[in-house]
Amino acid sequence: MSSPGSATGLRVADAGERALIERIRTRVPPGGSSLVVGIGDDAAVAMPDRGALQVLTTDALIEGIHFDRRFSTPADIGHKALAVNVSDVASMGGASRLALLSLMLPAELPVCDVDDLLDGLLDLAQRLRITLVGGNITRSPGPLVLDVTVIGSVRPRRILTRAGRPGDDLYVTGCVGAALAGLEWLREHSEKSVASSAPHAASLPRPTDASMAECVDRYCRPEPRARLGAILGRTRAATACMDLSDGLADGVTQMSSASQTGARIDAALLPIHPAAHTWFGRQGGDAVAAAVTGGDDYELLFAVSPKRRGRLRGVFREARGVPMTRIGALTADRSVGLMRDGRLEPLPTGFVHF
Ligand SMILES: [Mg+2]
Repeated sequence: MSSPGSATGLRVADAGERALIERIRTRVPPGGSSLVVGIGDDAAVAMPDRGALQVLTTDALIEGIHFDRRFSTPADIGHKALAVNVSDVASMGGASRLALLSLMLPAELPVCDVDDLLDGLLDLAQRLRITLVGGNITRSPGPLVLDVTVIGSVRPRRILTRAGRPGDDLYVTGCVGAALAGLEWLREHSEKSVASSAPHAASLPRPTDASMAECVDRYCRPEPRARLGAILGRTRAATACMDLSDGLADGVTQMSSASQTGARIDAALLPIHPAAHTWFGRQGGDAVAAAVTGGDDYELLFAVSPKRRGRLRGVFREARGVPMTRIGALTADRSVGLMRDGRLEPLPTGFVHF
C-alpha cells in the first residue's frame, strides 16, 4: 500500500501529531453502511448488527515486553497488534467489526515506520473486513506502544465462554510451540548478527529452513483463527473456547478454573510443530514442556461434549484444512495433569506477565 507524501528521513518529532493523524486518516477505507460517523471526528458512531450483542476487547503491545524491533518489522507489529484482539473476539464465537488504535510513538521513530505499522494493521483489517474507526496518537517518552480495541458482534446463543463441563473433550487448532521456537531462533540469531541500529525488513534475520521459517512467521505474524471461532459459535459444537496467548498449559489451567473442573492432557496427542519439536529437543531439552508453556501461538483451545461429536464433524468439514486435534479432556477431579509415558505429572505452568 502506498503512503501519501515522501517520508524519507522524516521523524515523528518533525511531523507532529495532527499531520500523523491526517496521514493515517487518508489511508483508511470507508466503513460499511453501519458506520454512521467514521474516523476523523471526535468519536466514531456505529450501528450494532441487528439482533447481535457486542464483544469488546483491548490489548496493548509494548516494545521490550511484547515485541522487539530487532526481530519484527513495523508491518509485523501492526499486524500483531490487531491480530491478538481479533483472536480474543474469535474465541468468544464473535466476528470482529470495528477497531480503535492508540499509538504511543517515540520522537525519533521514522514516519515511514508509522506508515509500515499501518500497512500491517490495515492489510489484516481489510482481509477480515474490520474498519479502523478512530484512535489517538501521543508522544512516548520511552518505548513504542500500540494499544488496539476491537468491537465485534455475536448472536446471543452463539457466545463461547471459557466454562465447559467435566467429561468434555479438549481440542486445539493448528499446532503449539511454534511461536516460542520462532522467538528463540530470532533471539539466538540476532545476537549473532549484533544490533543493527536501523532495522529494516531486509536486514532482519530469517531462517532458510522452511519449517523454522513457519515458526518465526507464527511469532511475528500470528494468524488469528477468526473464521473458525465464528464457526464454533454458530454450529454450537463447542461448550467452551479460549485463545492461546500465554501458552497451552496456561489455557488449560484457565479453562479448568472457569469450568470448575480439572483436566487431563495426553502428551502423545499434542500437535507440537515439527520444527519446534526439533528446536526444543536440542541438547536434551524437554520439547513437550517447552511447547505447552510457550505463548503467542494464538490457536484456539475448545471443549466439546462427547454428545456433540457429530456437530464437530461439521466444523471439520467447514474448517478448510485448519487442523483440530483432541488433546485430552476436562475432568471432575480438580487436578490439571499431563499423561506422559503412562505416568501422570503436573502440567508445566505457563508464561505469566507479572
Ligand atoms: Mg484470550
